[in-house]
Amino acid sequence: MVSDKYIAGFLDSDGGIGFNFIDKGRKPLLGITWSQKTCQDEVLFEIHKVIGGKIDYTTVNSVSYSRLHICGRKAEALLNRIRKYLVIKRRFADSCMKIANERVDNPIAIKEYLKKERKITSLPIPNFPTRKWLAGYIDGDGCFSISEISHKGAAYPLLHIAAANYDTEGIETIQKAFGGRIHNMNNGNVRQYILSLSPSKAIQLISYCGKYMIVKRDQALFVLNCAKMGHYRDGKNIKLALKQLKIQPHRLNEPRVDIKTLIAKIEDLPPYWNKKGAQACKKCGLRVRKHVAFGLCGACYQRSYRRNISTHVIVENVLSV
Ligand SMILES: [Zn+2]
Repeated sequence: MVSDKYIAGFLDSDGGIGFNFIDKGRKPLLGITWSQKTCQDEVLFEIHKVIGGKIDYTTVNSVSYSRLHICGRKAEALLNRIRKYLVIKRRFADSCMKIANERVDNPIAIKEYLKKERKITSLPIPNFPTRKWLAGYIDGDGCFSISEISHKGAAYPLLHIAAANYDTEGIETIQKAFGGRIHNMNNGNVRQYILSLSPSKAIQLISYCGKYMIVKRDQALFVLNCAKMGHYRDGKNIKLALKQLKIQPHRLNEPRVDIKTLIAKIEDLPPYWNKKGAQACKKCGLRVRKHVAFGLCGACYQRSYRRNISTHVIVENVLSV
């Protein structure tokens, strides 16, 4: 069962608060909507179980989206319950509730007021996100990816989150708690948060919130399992597996990729032997022997050393092969 904190996190990312109509002489109708690609709409049904409402479908640029709506009293009751957990839209939720029960005098003025309020920061910004809020927020706006495969073959997983420049409370909270950087994008209209998930950072973040996630839980737990090896040396397979997890549908009662099978495919490769990324002896090609120096196993190093007084020349020849 999803919690109110999760719902708040998911509202802060993929949800919207607004009014279905603002007409003169009537009370405006408060509405809350969440939108999600239909191929991963399980989360909407999970939230629906808790808060009710209606689910419908729409197509934008030939992609199908599922939407969950609630309105009126139900929406007000929900905001009353979760407002304290909202990080980004708390102030706006309060502004909406303030006008939800008054008859509208001047619709244009109300629309202007809402537009302005939407861009004002919700203060104070929490020092630490709660586990469930963070799970809901990353499920909405977060993205796990592999930035690059190093020349040695290792993967570098990242978490990135893009936010409008008036919606940065969420990424600022996460940055305070977990570090990472925030960049300007799109002429400063969008801020992007990037957290590099070194094994220790991945363990810190994902063991904190991963099990409460719905949409991206498999991706998070997969990265966590790789991180527990202490390295991401099997970069190619990690990248492939994460890609597979990202494109798999996430719908109610639909079969999933078995994450255990993916984890089992990731090799716990031995440490690299030298800066060029060799994992086996440069000369004999064996990886069962222990590395001694210059990418050579003990036996090969000894042989080179014994045969020649000028070791370095030999070693350089070997390395340039
Ligand atoms: Zn050797």
